[in-house]
Amino acid sequence: MSAYIDLHVHTTASDGTFTPAGAVALAEQIGLAAIAITDHDTASGVAEACAAGEKYGVEVVPGIEISVDYHGEGVHILGYFIDPASEALGRLLEWVALERRMRNEKIAEAMNSDGLDVSMKKMQMKYPNAVIGRPHFAAELVALGLVESVAEGFEKYLSPGGRYYRKREYIPIDMAFDIIHQSGGKAVFAHPYQYGFSPEELDKLTFELAGRGVVGIECIYSGYSPEQSAALMRLADKYALCPTGGSDFHGSRKPWISMGTGTGDMHVPMEMLSELKKA
Ligand code: AMP
Ligand code: ZN
Ligand code: FE
Ligand code: FE
Repeated sequence: MSAYIDLHVHTTASDGTFTPAGAVALAEQIGLAAIAITDHDTASGVAEACAAGEKYGVEVVPGIEISVDYHGEGVHILGYFIDPASEALGRLLEWVALERRMRNEKIAEAMNSDGLDVSMKKMQMKYPNAVIGRPHFAAELVALGLVESVAEGFEKYLSPGGRYYRKREYIPIDMAFDIIHQSGGKAVFAHPYQYGFSPEELDKLTFELAGRGVVGIECIYSGYSPEQSAALMRLADKYALCPTGGSDFHGSRKPWISMGTGTGDMHVPMEMLSELKKA
């Protein structure tokens, strides 16, 4: 029997609902051999997860997910094997945190001026140590009864064009790669079908990313059909990238996604991690 893994997991350090140790405990329960902790804009959950990994006998890959600027779009890049204590990474994340805080203030103000009882102070009390983002605001909309689910909150209010959507600045692409590399990490292009690019655009972007030092592309992902994954594998092959896979598990914040199996029958083989290590 081959061993399975999940290279894309969020925790309470960003917008997941499992603590880093809790996520590792779940991985052990469901029989995964390895998971990567890939919180948005922070590696603050990595140390706890690694310690839990020792305890539960699950390999924990230190990681991060950052949004980089591609012609104004936020493209997500996974950084694997980063050193969470890296100074360069720390400086980058400080900038991102400041930018995010300013954007969050704008969202809170917009909600507030509509008479909704939302403030950053309350949010920070409710989610201490988390990277607060739109998912948390969507959860507030659910709590306030404006929508029934986080997904509906995004759809109706928090996506581009929505009443409470506010843009944030993404990291210039070269800067992001420099820092991932300086902190010992390997960059992987996350969930390529989530941006709405045409096949031609996707090919061009993958080519550009490969030229900038991306070593992998997430071919297996929650909800991607076998055909879609196969097309991404061909793209990986074309640009000599490592195919990787992960669910983008967020716990109950994205209840339709399960760790390890995604929306149903996703499986990521251990070999993908072994190959990524060699890349
Ligand atoms: P932010 O970085 O604060 O702008 O929030 C972006 C994050 O929101 C993404 O990384 C996803 O985890 C989450 N997200 C985006 N769209 C949706 C959606 N339709 N439903 C649930 N979560 C979403
Ligand atoms: Zn997320
Ligand atoms: Fe993402
Ligand atoms: Fe993610």
